[in-house]
Amino acid sequence: MSIEELARKNVRELTPYQSARRLGGKGDVWLNANEFPTAVPFELTQQTLNRYPECQPKAVIENYAQYADVKPEQVLVSRGADEGIELLIRAFCEPGKDAVLFCPPTYGMYSVSAETLGVEYRTVPALADWQLDLQGIADKLDGVKIIYVCSPNNPTGQIINSQDFRVLLEMTRGKAIVVADEAYIEFCPQATLAGWLSEYPNLVILRTLSKAFALAGLRCGFTLANEDVIALLLKVIAPYPLSTPVADIAAQALSPQGIVAMRERVAQILVERRYLVTALQDIPCVEQVFDSETNYILVRLTASSAVFKSLWDQGIILRDQNKQPSLSGCLRITIGTRAESQRVIDALRAEPV
Ligand code: PMP
Repeated sequence: MSIEELARKNVRELTPYQSARRLGGKGDVWLNANEFPTAVPFELTQQTLNRYPECQPKAVIENYAQYADVKPEQVLVSRGADEGIELLIRAFCEPGKDAVLFCPPTYGMYSVSAETLGVEYRTVPALADWQLDLQGIADKLDGVKIIYVCSPNNPTGQIINSQDFRVLLEMTRGKAIVVADEAYIEFCPQATLAGWLSEYPNLVILRTLSKAFALAGLRCGFTLANEDVIALLLKVIAPYPLSTPVADIAAQALSPQGIVAMRERVAQILVERRYLVTALQDIPCVEQVFDSETNYILVRLTASSAVFKSLWDQGIILRDQNKQPSLSGCLRITIGTRAESQRVIDALRAEPV
């Protein structure tokens, strides 16, 4: 047998996640991964690298609980929200039997994690306004253990109606976990469902330091849930999921001063988003700019593939969403600095229609 043939069938058939970094490019304007555009400096305070770290570093958990207004027992910290997505499948889904469900167009890791673990995934396309098709979901719930709902949604940028979340949580009570992926919630904090944890034992919320906290390179994310869910996730998590330097920096980022700085970054991004949206609306090759509650915007363009390539060749790297259901002609643009937005605007103005 070849090495390839020795591998699990689902792994041989797997298409890995096309992360912005894997896609490459030789840009100098990186607007394809919804990162914060500038780096925040930190200094390490822990020098005890001869010792293993705590599995769930107390300072990180306590600071996050305080920030999210939940109990420390309701918080799990992991290697990015991506690890949270996978831990949930490992804890709740029997390969070959159970399924996960999500509503495209949405974030790509739900399917990749399910496939990697040999768990079926089912999709119910979002409605024309990208809200949930609740009837469609109800019709496909048989065997579903986890439903991932990204809110605000990546890549479309809108918040999922809270009333629809309520219907979904009631529909699945005692049967399935509803995961609200709140990776971008700092850009619209009023929309969080964290306050609902006491009402719904099947609600799980994913968070990250990769976006508004400007720490994508740190790899640190959080799962908020009731204690019995957290206890199950702690059974399947790695013994030392965060390195000591990661925990050190995360605790600093979540200090009261860290939270204030994060809110200032959010305010800056919202100003820059308004600037970019306004400018894009007057550009001939731009057909539609969709409303966004996040640090990125989705734009429909004439000849989007040619535009994507042309900007790529000029060192401006955007994210092509053309292949996602209902997103033909759409590119996603991360909100960067004013100078980066200006590069995008000038390049798009120069595109033929
Ligand atoms: N969920 C969504 C919707 C995301 O966009 C991302 C980041 N690409 C993640 C989760 C994963 O975040 P992290 O960097 O914390 O793994």
